[in-house]
Amino acid sequence: MDLTFDLSSISTEALTAMHAELEQQHQRLVAANLKLDLTRGKPAPEQLDLSLPLLDLPGEGDYKAADGTDARNYGGLTGLPEVRQIWGEVFGVPAGQLIEGGNSSLALMHDALVNNVLFGVGDADSEPWRQIKFLCPVPGYDRHFTILEGLGIEMISVPLHEDGPDMAIVKELVAADPSIKGIWCIPKYSNPTGSVFSAEVIAELASMSTAAADFRIFWDNAYSVHHLTEEEVGVADILAACEEAGNPDRAYVFASTSKITTAGSGLSFFGSSAKNVAWYQKFMFRRTIGPDKINELRHVRFLPDAASVKALMSQHRAIIAPKFELVLSILDKHLGGTETATWTTPKGGYFISLEVPDGCAARVVGLAKEAGIALTPAGATFPYGRDPRDSNIRLAPTFPSLSELAQATEGLAVCVKLAAVEKALAAGAAS
Ligand code: PLP
Repeated sequence: MDLTFDLSSISTEALTAMHAELEQQHQRLVAANLKLDLTRGKPAPEQLDLSLPLLDLPGEGDYKAADGTDARNYGGLTGLPEVRQIWGEVFGVPAGQLIEGGNSSLALMHDALVNNVLFGVGDADSEPWRQIKFLCPVPGYDRHFTILEGLGIEMISVPLHEDGPDMAIVKELVAADPSIKGIWCIPKYSNPTGSVFSAEVIAELASMSTAAADFRIFWDNAYSVHHLTEEEVGVADILAACEEAGNPDRAYVFASTSKITTAGSGLSFFGSSAKNVAWYQKFMFRRTIGPDKINELRHVRFLPDAASVKALMSQHRAIIAPKFELVLSILDKHLGGTETATWTTPKGGYFISLEVPDGCAARVVGLAKEAGIALTPAGATFPYGRDPRDSNIRLAPTFPSLSELAQATEGLAVCVKLAAVEKALAAGAAS
């Protein structure tokens, strides 16, 4: 731990000397012509290799589903029964309330929102969602915000804590404003903070009074089986909580196998109340004749039950947990115990969320870029790409190799320190 890097009680002379030393370190990084990338929340090639057998499945002559359906032909709009059964168990959704919908859960989220915007939620008296607002727990997932922005939906940021969104703020907002129609939630190992929603938060989301009768929770369970520790954290069942609270149609659940099997070529799912599933199916019927059943069958053969999914995910964990440990240990070595930076220690998911001093995130990203280290743009984790404190940076340790990660994180630590010292010097000059 670099306890010498404590800017809270340091003389201007010492700060100036530190600045000169850090500038030199940064110049050495620039001269090293690095080409490193901490932006990509993607599986590493070794992780994708785990699912290589998929590419040879279902195999010649093996194209019939359990009920005799010929997977090579049209039909089966909601997914093969065995697919819904297996993945319903994995994601905790009754098979009859789960639809398989193609290769991307983000596409299903987009479709659900577009359907709401064009036609409302499907109740007899529901109006299309015009001039509406959405709650966005922050820091959050930039692609969620991009969907809303593209549809002209106003985004309202609410703080995301370790156990979920700040429910006092959420409850006040949704109770007061009927134009607030929904909230994004990544309930487990959230992108990028690793937050895990507590049972209390989930019960409150399910039961809170909303001024909008057609309020919907967009429950993006992208990381439900992506554990980084033995603990294998669980979260409460949102559909059951909504049902119990008398709001059975409040939640839309989304998930996919993108970071389980093959990213972009997996299976994706929509789950909700029977009524909402029928509503969603109506739109799917117009949009497609049916999903890729050959890919469904491939997945059934490769992962025939929830236990096989669990076993595969522990192989993923063996590859990526050491990468997270490495990044965390380097951050700790250089920045631990100082007030300069804090970061999350996720128990799962794909990201570490780094907080640098206010006003420094864009500078850190810029310094890193000069040194050949690509970081997610500052602000990306906030609606409209604007982080009001300019302090959050999302780190994605899964894709690079261990040696690339070590170099990138060492370099990142220099950039964080340099930006912090620049800020401290500027503050000193101004006072
Ligand atoms: N949801 C979250 C929270 C993600 O982080 C990602 C990808 O990074 C996705 C959804 C994308 O899911 P899919 O590949 O199923 O479209």
